Amino acid sequence: MSDFDYIIVGAGSTGCVLANRLSLDPAKRVLLVEAGPNDSHPYVAIPKGIAKLRLHPTLSWRLPVEAMPGRNQGELWPRGKMIGGTSSLNGMFYIRGQAQDYDDWAKVGVKGWDWAHMSACFQKMENHQLGADELRGAGGPLHVSIPYKENPIDEAIIKAGVEMGLPRKADLNRLDQLGIGYYPINTWRGRRWSAANAFLNPARSRPNLTVRTGVVVDRVLFEGRRAVGVSCRVADERVEFRTRGEVIVCAGTLKSPQLLQLSGIGPAPALQSLGIELVHANAAVGANMREHLSYTVIHKLLGLPGENREYRGIRLAKNVLRYYMLRDGVLSYSTFSSGGFAKTGLEGDRPDIQFFAAPLSWDTSNAKDVVSRVKTAKEPGMTCFAYFLHPESRGSVSLRSANPDDHPVIRPNWLATENDRRAAVAVARFVRDFMSSAALKPYIGAELTPGPGVRTEAELLDSYARFGSTANHAVGTCAMGSGPEAVVDEHLRVHGVQNLRVADCSVIPFAMSGNTNAPAMAVGWRLAELMAQEVRGTPARASALV
Ligand SMILES: Cc1cc2nc3c(=O)[nH]c(=O)nc-3n(C[C@H](O)[C@H](O)[C@H](O)COP(=O)(O)OP(=O)(O)OC[C@H]3O[C@@H](n4cnc5c(N)ncnc54)[C@H](O)[C@@H]3O)c2cc1C
Repeated sequence: MSDFDYIIVGAGSTGCVLANRLSLDPAKRVLLVEAGPNDSHPYVAIPKGIAKLRLHPTLSWRLPVEAMPGRNQGELWPRGKMIGGTSSLNGMFYIRGQAQDYDDWAKVGVKGWDWAHMSACFQKMENHQLGADELRGAGGPLHVSIPYKENPIDEAIIKAGVEMGLPRKADLNRLDQLGIGYYPINTWRGRRWSAANAFLNPARSRPNLTVRTGVVVDRVLFEGRRAVGVSCRVADERVEFRTRGEVIVCAGTLKSPQLLQLSGIGPAPALQSLGIELVHANAAVGANMREHLSYTVIHKLLGLPGENREYRGIRLAKNVLRYYMLRDGVLSYSTFSSGGFAKTGLEGDRPDIQFFAAPLSWDTSNAKDVVSRVKTAKEPGMTCFAYFLHPESRGSVSLRSANPDDHPVIRPNWLATENDRRAAVAVARFVRDFMSSAALKPYIGAELTPGPGVRTEAELLDSYARFGSTANHAVGTCAMGSGPEAVVDEHLRVHGVQNLRVADCSVIPFAMSGNTNAPAMAVGWRLAELMAQEVRGTPARASALV
């Protein structure tokens, strides 16, 4: 197969940005390979399509997660398996995180990823509905909108937050973060605006960019310690793609460490026991996973019909019609419109809780359905969910076997430290306090989940462990840094080998203060700047490429 300068594995949030930025140079030949199909399924463009896509049999990876002691069951973790990756099926919330998140990356020994640099990347990427200012960008390829119309229940939710001392924010991406308001989302005129829409599609006609779907990469190919290509399956055929430059793995937090391990980079004893030839021993590959564990409280909704009925029967038919005719109505919004950031006090003044609330609820008759949110309830309901933003507990992603088709073993290892357990109780109490605020009183009926029987600290913790579920924000399994816990360096080059990088959420060393799609895209943008600096041999200024 022909030679490329860059082979990018995975057309997800980071991969799409890199495909765009690296193919800006017409002298460089870029190949982007994606395991899944194109993103043309009609559910992808519809914001509420997430309900059908999360656990879609072909468009989501649906990765099984090990059951933990004290939990009712394991979970299936969704990840996008199509062009756009997880940005094609996610909740579209656009949250950059706190300046401190990025400044903290310096603690692992990397330079150039601090807030000053990353904030400039965000501004360059954005086309924000609220216009440009010292933090927001306008005119960039990534649409950010706040499309919700004021309505009594969301206004009551916002008042509840204000009652608890949270400032009302027109933009939840301000530097101080603390506050409540309508969430910014990545949509454009009622359609999902994925990383593929923003970054890949505008570049697709470039003659130096080749995009291949249905290509499952099984292994990176090495000559000695130098990556020279990838070995893949296309349908049932084995295909190799070669590069005269680099392979950049952008397969996401759960699949990138699996691919590195299948390629011989990872914990030596485990790889050797599976008969995988070792290229470079590094116990950090797949370790250090940080994930938010979310806690859900559901009440009966009183006095208002709520949203549940909008997704059934004649109302659903009307909403579909309305969506296609006007790109408007409930299908054009994210699942939760309002929420924000609060603090437990355990981290001083730093906001450490993110929460969401909506007049929407799930069937609570089966604990499993509460966790996987498969069916909206028949009766009107009100849900609030929240999570602690900075967990210390570390999970892992390891190989189950040497067969690339076997899912990796994913262990979240939540609530493993005393601090995390204390934070969990504080989060659960916050959600309860929020739901019992005066502003929400007229609308709130009996608590359905976890239920009035859960009161004491021990009961709260037990219900958190039992029913808490993934917030879908795992990071850290190929963490950047210079120490023994690092997999990649500050230019995201894999330690111990040449011509191989990892770029996606897996390189983020600590849990983010928020959702992870915006950071994933910014990682791609920033890496492209750093790679341009390597080519020029000059230090990269913030957003020097643009
Ligand atoms: C249900 C859900 C809802 C979410 N909601 C939000 C939200 O509202 N806001 C937010 O900010 N974040 C959200 N997130 C998280 C966010 O979307 C992800 O963290 C982010 O998209 C990850 O980007 P990535 O580039 O790391 O990986 P991905 O976007 O997952 O990209 C990885 C790509 O690599 C491909 N791939 C994997 N293995 C191979 C292989 N072997 N060969 C070829 N291709 C391969 C995958 O198919 C995929 O396309 C959500 C996540 C989920 C699962």
